[in-house]
Amino acid sequence: MDKFYYQPPKSTPVLSDVLIEDLRFVAKQLNVTRVSQETYQKHGKFSTSLFKRRFGSWNKALLEANLEIVRVGIHTEEALFENILKVWQKKGGQPTQSDMDDASISNITSGVYKKRFKGWTNAVKDFIRYANENYVITAKKKEEDKRDPSVKLRYQVLKRDNFSCVQCGASPAKGYLGELHIDHIKAWSKGGKTEIINLQTLCVQCNLGKSNLD
Ligand SMILES: [Zn+2]
Repeated sequence: MDKFYYQPPKSTPVLSDVLIEDLRFVAKQLNVTRVSQETYQKHGKFSTSLFKRRFGSWNKALLEANLEIVRVGIHTEEALFENILKVWQKKGGQPTQSDMDDASISNITSGVYKKRFKGWTNAVKDFIRYANENYVITAKKKEEDKRDPSVKLRYQVLKRDNFSCVQCGASPAKGYLGELHIDHIKAWSKGGKTEIINLQTLCVQCNLGKSNLD
């Protein structure tokens, strides 16, 4: 047996190229264009957490390797509704099926909703029912002390304000291209609560103008 043999220093980081190469190798071996973390753990050489540390996330590593992003199959109801509200907010009106398939504004495709809710119309109805539930009783106590309003509360504020900036009237439905923000009338940092009477819809410009005055 050799007494001396070369051992690379333990601290030598694995090169990013080597990581990406191994990710591509696994995809090639399995003849797939999508590699989930679970799949990689079974077939790859390195830990998936190393990829995440190096590239920021698993999906970013996949992008780096020119592989397709693996979409998480099971979304929570909250995540599905959150995405509906996001699209609603960007459009300034009730999203259509094709809005949901527009990757520039939606993270989850209409197909996912259709499967889960047995049709897009049902998905919208369920969302509205959910968002209109009486949050005052169910969530307010916990929510008013948190900075970020829930999906329900955001929807109710936006709906009350007609998905328009309360100061200048800007609305995505009328061609406004920016984003609508939910603003604390009395700043949260100054003790303002996260409750409907202390929240308002502002466009980016009015929101900026407001924070300059603070
Ligand atoms: Zn405005």
